[in-house]
Amino acid sequence: MVENSQIQLVENLLPTTPALNRFVKPNDINNLVAQYGTPLYLIDEETLHAKVKELHKAYSKFVGPLKIAYSVKANFSPAIIRTFITDGITFDLTSVGELHFIKRCKAIPYNAIYTSVTEEFEEYLEVLRTGIRKVVVSSFNGMTNLAKAAEKIGVKVPTMIRVNPEVGVKAGVRASYRNGKFGVPFNGGTIDSAPKLIKHLMNNELLRFEGFHFHLGSQITDFSCFIHALDKMDGFMTRMKKEFPTFQVNTFDIGGGTPILYSEPVPSPTQMAEYLVPRLNQLASSHGIFELMIESGRFLVAESSMLISKIVNTKEFSEHKIVILDAGYHLLLDAALLKQEYPQEILSLPNDKGKSTTMPTKNIHLAGRLCDTYDVFPLSKSSFLGGAEVGRYLSFYNVGAYSLVFNMPFHCQIKPPVIMKTSKGDFKLVRKGTSYEGLFMEEGGDII
Ligand SMILES: *Cc1c(COP(=O)(O)O)cnc(C)c1O
Repeated sequence: MVENSQIQLVENLLPTTPALNRFVKPNDINNLVAQYGTPLYLIDEETLHAKVKELHKAYSKFVGPLKIAYSVKANFSPAIIRTFITDGITFDLTSVGELHFIKRCKAIPYNAIYTSVTEEFEEYLEVLRTGIRKVVVSSFNGMTNLAKAAEKIGVKVPTMIRVNPEVGVKAGVRASYRNGKFGVPFNGGTIDSAPKLIKHLMNNELLRFEGFHFHLGSQITDFSCFIHALDKMDGFMTRMKKEFPTFQVNTFDIGGGTPILYSEPVPSPTQMAEYLVPRLNQLASSHGIFELMIESGRFLVAESSMLISKIVNTKEFSEHKIVILDAGYHLLLDAALLKQEYPQEILSLPNDKGKSTTMPTKNIHLAGRLCDTYDVFPLSKSSFLGGAEVGRYLSFYNVGAYSLVFNMPFHCQIKPPVIMKTSKGDFKLVRKGTSYEGLFMEEGGDII
């Protein structure tokens, strides 16, 4: 019986292989590169809407209310923020800068959730003035600053505690580890621990205990860490209920981590939710219904975007060919930082008449334009680089998360334009590229 259910679980988690999101036709790419040049980012609005729907649907079996928060840090493009506002989701913010962005896009701040690492008094003043009413604290000092800000503004603030479940996480980026910088542990004798923060919140005039938050990491493909964290949460909630008869969790935020396709196929959000929701429902039945918050950056935006670059140089050796692009890690930092294997593809455009495959993909090494050893692009298992010749175009897929936000001027490089394919099917310039002269002035070129 037990064995059967384990087999069932493994089958449920068999990854699906989605096709690459080729949302722009070769003819349109031809026209866009003729007009805007390369490198060029393209965003598909329809994919953004579809991802929100997919995430909602995945968690539909949760017994309580569900809220999805877009983690703005993954991509702060105002065009993307505005798209998500029309989907009615809320925002997960980590800085006053991100708060400024959602305000300027006219998001309703009330439901946004604010989780910073800095937790300063001035920051919280701004957050509360803007109308955010869900603040996550991560330290005793942070909680004290929030209470001071609440007193000054004259509001009682629903306050969540970011816990660090200290569970092992297998993922591209880990945020839960012993004595880590994020959150407070369930145990531990110091004031920076969950029991001590709750004790303070239970007797606080200015802050009201609202619930818990954890964030285990990004690009999580083994979901057992969530189950371990929820098990620990369960035990901790039981302990707190004994200590404080009025203890009640209204909101429970399980953070981000939903994975997307780079090289290996990954489980879908539905498969992830099939794993998590039964445990979350159990938690709700033992401790009372809470609102479930799912945060997502990567999943909501990654597949919506591609980066078009041009092959500008090549050199051939006996064993392999080096293909040099007009892009570099100043546009896709995670290729260097995390060795992220973005799927790449040589585009077949109407102008490429007669050009054909010369070398198998595995013998091609992709490199960027920067004079830096780390400026190379690891290949994905979904990459196709046959026909990589000077003058042809190459597309990086699934670059919507943690790429455009890292754009940097290393080597005096400028920011490429960003085009959105709107749900109506037309192409809209949503970010102008920058210029060398603009960069020169920004760097104080006119200060003599
Ligand atoms: C970065 C971050 C997220 C988003 O993670 P993804 O893996 O991109 O979904 C969510 N919550 C917090 C607190 C984060 O720091």
